[in-house]
Amino acid sequence: MPSVISHAAVAVAAGIAFAPRDVPNLFWTLSVACSIIPDADVIGFSFGIPYDHFLGHRGFFHSPFFGLLMSIFLVGIFFRDMEIFSRQWFFYFIFFFLLSASHGILDAFTNGGLGIALLSPFDNTRYFFPWTPIMVSPIGIDAFFSKWGLSVIKSELLWIWLPSFLMVIISRVIRVVAAGH
Ligand SMILES: [Zn+2]
Repeated sequence: MPSVISHAAVAVAAGIAFAPRDVPNLFWTLSVACSIIPDADVIGFSFGIPYDHFLGHRGFFHSPFFGLLMSIFLVGIFFRDMEIFSRQWFFYFIFFFLLSASHGILDAFTNGGLGIALLSPFDNTRYFFPWTPIMVSPIGIDAFFSKWGLSVIKSELLWIWLPSFLMVIISRVIRVVAAGH
């Protein structure tokens, strides 16, 4: 995984870039949750679930399909008063889905560990993209505060934080230009 903080940074940047101004605070909490929840699957290690298992780390819970289920669940629970299929409803649904899916997709750009089950539950093959510039983050806090951790931070700043920041800037410019016409 890129570290949890970087996944959350993507969520916040995407929210700033694409969310309407009047979203409730809950929106931000759920966005961050969507971006990091897939990594809760590391708990499986303590229960003896092997890494390459369907439910193992980077398995089903890292798939866009799980992201879809999570989005349906979150919108169904937290925005149940909202008119279904309204513009706002679609925004939340698609946004939460894409953020949840962004987790596994970002992980597939990392250079270590096992690949990501991007097509789960239909196919449990673990995938990486052909280009993996992001240094994989160690699992566990101790290893993170090491030289390895430092190069992880450097690579995440370059490949995750910088593009996220650019996404915010570009969206701002587009909004300002659009508002001026
Ligand atoms: Zn992950």
